[in-house]
Amino acid sequence: MTLPGAPWLHRRGRTLHLEGVALDALARAHGTPLYVYSRGVMREAVRRYADALAGRPHLLCYAMKANSNLAVLQTLAAEGCGFDIVSAGELERVLAVGVPASRVVFSGVGKTRAEMGRALEAGVRCFNVESLPELDRLDEVARAHGTRAPVSLRVNPDVDARTHPYISTGLRDNKFGIAHDEALAAYRRAAERAGIAVQGIDCHIGSQITELAPYLDALDRVLDLVEAVEAAGIGLHHVDLGGGLGITYADEQPPGADAMVRALLARLDARGHGAREVLLEPGRSIVGNAGVLLTEVQYLKPGPHKNFCIVDAAMNDLVRPAMYGAWMDIVPCTERDGAARTWDVVGPVCESGDWLGRDRPLAVRPGDVLAVLSAGAYGFVMASNYNSRPRAAEVMVDGDRAFVVRERERIEDLWRGERPWPDDA
Ligand SMILES: *Cc1c(COP(=O)(O)O)cnc(C)c1O
Repeated sequence: MTLPGAPWLHRRGRTLHLEGVALDALARAHGTPLYVYSRGVMREAVRRYADALAGRPHLLCYAMKANSNLAVLQTLAAEGCGFDIVSAGELERVLAVGVPASRVVFSGVGKTRAEMGRALEAGVRCFNVESLPELDRLDEVARAHGTRAPVSLRVNPDVDARTHPYISTGLRDNKFGIAHDEALAAYRRAAERAGIAVQGIDCHIGSQITELAPYLDALDRVLDLVEAVEAAGIGLHHVDLGGGLGITYADEQPPGADAMVRALLARLDARGHGAREVLLEPGRSIVGNAGVLLTEVQYLKPGPHKNFCIVDAAMNDLVRPAMYGAWMDIVPCTERDGAARTWDVVGPVCESGDWLGRDRPLAVRPGDVLAVLSAGAYGFVMASNYNSRPRAAEVMVDGDRAFVVRERERIEDLWRGERPWPDDA
């Protein structure tokens, strides 16, 4: 079996290693649940995009909501990445690792005045504006700051990304973007505003996309608009095609980033848009297969209908299975002899939805460490403190070195900022 993230994730003998580091040793050293990320996998993922884009005006903007640990941002910034942000908090993270705001695009349907003001002050490269009221508000805020806000309109191309409904964003019924048939009028409005400087056009059709066709359909729809907008005398400097490329969790076979980029560039050329700057906003495909979540088996609870393998990681640590019904591979960090049995791998949280994997063949004993694979994207970032569980630590590995890039939350962190009612003291 090839492991996702191979060759960085591999077995030496029976023991699973990420790069040169044995994962069960990391679990013993730092405790579980524990997120572990490979710098090598992330760098390789960026390079596949960057190599395919070489020689073209472009900016690869990592969608940092997928994994916003500072060490991850630092690693990707060193590879030349820009960043796609969706909140002021994400902006401050980018600035904290020393990335200039000129490499940042700001997406999201609900930007507040304060977020707009801060992003203007910092000097972000572009606002991806998702509605007319947002455009009006940004115009106001920019004029109040004595400046013009650089803007792309995020258009909704109304194509089906053929992915999970919760992560499909380019359909007419989604909350995202400006409808395709209203986009030209929106550009006219934007061009009239003293606080707005039109820069480009943007779309993002969904996540975990495993086919090229939806991308090419979306690109065609976007280019139709580019041509209409420019015919109306409004110049567009760049085309931002969003993120969304899928990864292999089970047996999906998404196109490689290089193949996807080549197909997009070929279509741009074919339609005479070869000189236009291209922006992309990949998240999952950069970090997803770079990470694993390690968890220790607490109890085995065989039963007449179901066998439960109760581990110390839960839906609060990794919500994708509970939230999207996502299938993520679960493998032992050290393989043991003996026949596998079929287990539901579940956490300690008081919810029946608290499972990490169902019907998994595993030879396990209490105390064994399991690795949930492909957990580098939408893992730690979606963690919560539900059931008053401190959030996991995060470790990054590079070659045979490992470094804690976020310490485990302590119990007393759980009530930081909480206050007892004053009169009862
Ligand atoms: C989430 C998001 C992305 C990244 O999506 P992935 O599936 O992680 O690649 C890119 N752009 C926007 C606007 C997003 O909301």
